[in-house]
Amino acid sequence: MNDSQHRSHVVVIGAGFTGLTAAYEISRQGIGVTVVEKDDAVGGLAKSFSIEGQQLERFYHHWFNNDEYAIQLIKDLGLDSNIEYNSTRTGIYMDNEFFKLSTPFDVLRFKPLSLVNRFRLGLLVLRARRVKDWRPLESMTAKQWLLKLCGSEVYHVVWEPLLRGKFGLFASEISAVWFWNKLVLRGGSRNKMGKETLVYYRGSFATLADRLTEEIESAGGCVRTDTPAERLIIQDGRVKGVQTPDGTIDAQAVIATPALPIIADLIDGNGPSGYIDELRKIEYLANVCLVLELRHNLSDIYWLNVNDPEFPFIGVIEHTNFQPTATCGDRHVIYLSQYLPVTAELYGMNNEQVFEFAVSHIKRLFPKFERSWVYRYHVWKTRYAQPIVVRHYGSLIPSSESPIKGLYIATMAQIYPEDRGTNYAVRQGRNIGEMMATKIINGEL
Ligand SMILES: Cc1cc2nc3c(=O)[nH]c(=O)nc-3n(C[C@H](O)[C@H](O)[C@H](O)COP(=O)(O)OP(=O)(O)OC[C@H]3O[C@@H](n4cnc5c(N)ncnc54)[C@H](O)[C@@H]3O)c2cc1C
Repeated sequence: MNDSQHRSHVVVIGAGFTGLTAAYEISRQGIGVTVVEKDDAVGGLAKSFSIEGQQLERFYHHWFNNDEYAIQLIKDLGLDSNIEYNSTRTGIYMDNEFFKLSTPFDVLRFKPLSLVNRFRLGLLVLRARRVKDWRPLESMTAKQWLLKLCGSEVYHVVWEPLLRGKFGLFASEISAVWFWNKLVLRGGSRNKMGKETLVYYRGSFATLADRLTEEIESAGGCVRTDTPAERLIIQDGRVKGVQTPDGTIDAQAVIATPALPIIADLIDGNGPSGYIDELRKIEYLANVCLVLELRHNLSDIYWLNVNDPEFPFIGVIEHTNFQPTATCGDRHVIYLSQYLPVTAELYGMNNEQVFEFAVSHIKRLFPKFERSWVYRYHVWKTRYAQPIVVRHYGSLIPSSESPIKGLYIATMAQIYPEDRGTNYAVRQGRNIGEMMATKIINGEL
């Protein structure tokens, strides 16, 4: 170990997958690193809660089988035996009916569209995969691109309700790049018969986050939960440390991984005002997830998109149609998810109100459902769930190297042209961690 490795200390803000993988790479080089996390546990958006003593994500999580960075990390940690591949069923609810959409045959049987438009829907993924250069799509909205590619009926029947369900008032502004990438990623995770296989980490994503924590600590690093960063200490244009309720942690460099507006708050009044404004340019949607522990299943579909403007959730994700009920205390676990602005009524409701509000809607979709099926319910909310990827989003993304010397930022809003996801959090975290370690070893920081 050289002198600069020995003397260096990096603080990573946030113990989600970006922060943990960055710290993992830094600690592996023998460089001092402390991760500060405001919550009481690691994992960030993939953090878990307990059902009958078993861990489950607060917000549903899976990987696609082409999520190479997450899978490689698990292999590097020698944990391959915990990777599980399962085929799943996908469906859509619309016009008071359920339609399976798992295979090309399901698409051909999809009654809401005319036959010719079923073909156009089916061919969309292939056409999207032929786009090799996404840059020309930057100036188009998803709506413009989809209308061009698959026509008005496919757009209005299938995609517009989903875009509206996910992005609400922002739906018509969403970039074609965002949509293109979703199609390419989903299409790439299907086998030759068009069937989708999804990937899970046995024991939950949080178990993997715990394992990363152990690796960081055994390499001499430190992960401190219940430790919010309150302010960055900046002197003469250089970051000097991070203020927490327990005191200041000195740092030669800082990697900040929370949402951009949180980072802006950490340097507000202390850093260049133009830069702070830049960090506030990207807007985010929040998310509310109602998780039900049930006696019976609602359907045999894992991922159900709901194209029904009256239903207050965009997706019904039946986790136990992906993982066995034995992993959830023999209960059927269902997530009802909605992305929404923080000003939305649903976001402001308390847990009981969210549940009571949802019951009659669930009953309408699944008439057999009875309140007596519910063992327990949970409500999870997050303020920064999904960056709103508008046209020319690339020009809004701040660089990972900030104008404040020693301060680097690595957040989910910088994942582009792909959309956020733990796979890309791992890529981003490992890249920035390796880059920082190299700079320190070369005495460049
Ligand atoms: C509803 C939902 C479903 C999803 N489904 C999937 C999926 O199926 N598959 C998938 O791969 N991805 C999924 N994602 C996305 C995935 O969770 C994220 O992309 C990923 O977890 C982001 O990791 P991160 O470390 O970049 O950010 P985060 O996980 O947000 O981590 C940032 C961390 O910073 C902490 N923090 C914030 N402020 C401070 C502060 N002041 N001081 C200290 N710490 C602070 C936060 O508590 C958090 O732990 C989903 C997300 C949502 C919301």
